Amino acid sequence: MRLSRYFMPILKETPKEAEIVSHRLMLRTGMVRQQSQGIYSWLPLGKRVLDKVNAIIRDEQNRAGAVELLMPTLQSAELWQESGRYDDYGKEMLRIKDRQDRPMLYGPTNEEMITDIFRSSVKSYKSLPLNLYHIQLKFRDEIRPRFGTMRSREFLMKDAYSFDWTKEAALHSYNKMFTAYLRTFDRLGLRAIPMRADTGPIGGNHSHEFIILADTGESEVFCHKSFLNRSIPSVDTDFDDVDGLQAVFNDWTSDYAATSEMHDEAAYDGMPEADRISARGIEVGHIFYFGTKYSEPMGAKVQGPDGKEHLVHMGSYGIGPTRLVPAIIEASHDENGIIWPASVAPFDGIIINMKAGDAACDAACDKIYAALGKAGKDVLLDDTDDRAGAKFAMADLIGVPWQVIAGPRAVANGEVELKNRKTGERETMTIDAAINRLA
Ligand code: ATP
Ligand code: MG
Ligand code: MG
Ligand code: MG
Repeated sequence: MRLSRYFMPILKETPKEAEIVSHRLMLRTGMVRQQSQGIYSWLPLGKRVLDKVNAIIRDEQNRAGAVELLMPTLQSAELWQESGRYDDYGKEMLRIKDRQDRPMLYGPTNEEMITDIFRSSVKSYKSLPLNLYHIQLKFRDEIRPRFGTMRSREFLMKDAYSFDWTKEAALHSYNKMFTAYLRTFDRLGLRAIPMRADTGPIGGNHSHEFIILADTGESEVFCHKSFLNRSIPSVDTDFDDVDGLQAVFNDWTSDYAATSEMHDEAAYDGMPEADRISARGIEVGHIFYFGTKYSEPMGAKVQGPDGKEHLVHMGSYGIGPTRLVPAIIEASHDENGIIWPASVAPFDGIIINMKAGDAACDAACDKIYAALGKAGKDVLLDDTDDRAGAKFAMADLIGVPWQVIAGPRAVANGEVELKNRKTGERETMTIDAAINRLA
């Protein structure tokens, strides 16, 4: 992508309304734009990161055996009247009427709709286990939308829903998602800690929130320090291995970790003081097993091997991609800007033409850009005629993993400089060596 043809509305000034660093950096880099309170457009740079986050989430959901579909954002109130949540959900739900005066709502979550899909077509235990997910916009009319897309009113959620015909099988489905979440957050460059959690309006009694420790987090959390370097289940994990996944779950729940709602002071105080972490955290994911809470009122049943009808046991599993993007920035930035983990960086790197219009610099940049493109790398070429200082500052601000700096003096020697955004290390090398290193 040539910067001169791209759309990346960088702000020179730090926006005053932004209270936390991720919000400031997302506005400054032109990743998002607020359209009305708590409702955002994702501009091209932000959209790239969001797409990469979604791709990792999707990959790990699929690996764990979940199946993707897409449900609508608007739902009819009828299903929610069936489950009994239409009245309970309260003011967070945006209620709408269509031209026939039928009550509709902008979905804050999809348990009812997925249960309806399930009951309309699944009739036998032989079709189970089944886990269906989508990545779709939600709307919750939050009392205090804030911190940019960290707590917005319209936001993206990956929500998965599992169906089993026994409780034991449902807990295995839960462990699949638990394991997939550990892998997902790790691939996003984050250390997320599963903590015993309250279930809120989703309901149920077996639930974990995945929490990123961060001073700007809105949750108060307590855990053992062992979670900071516990090992992540490998890519070869067999998701059908019931005992293997139970072992992952047991390992990752063997030490104390709870959100404030579930905090057990006696258990926490029982740990040696040096092992205790009391901190703020960001909830990036939340998983629930809630048994027959929806299948019962909505009549979602399958025929078992005994010929009898069984209510299905369900779980639901949420991740917030539009919250994860700022959470990653909170965890990875410095005074000059964002430092993207390579897995979600909007571009693999940037080529900085220090003297656009100079034939030798243009030729060197074009050569590197073409060679890296051919090698499948997604590179931004700064071909604008901004000052050198502004170009360096912009490259650091948007935080892509490496920078190739092509200035007239180096290029005259057939060389460029390579800078690592994270470490700040710079190295001069020939143009071909730079291509070989980065391709
Ligand atoms: P919170 O406690 O932050 O209000 P929640 O517990 O209400 O979140 P869940 O119903 O558990 O949220 O939804 C699953 C996931 O969706 C959350 O873990 C979070 O990552 C994301 N999410 C929820 N609300 C928002 C929001 N207002 N803005 C952005 N992401 C959100
Ligand atoms: Mg909430
Ligand atoms: Mg919560
Ligand atoms: Mg939650």
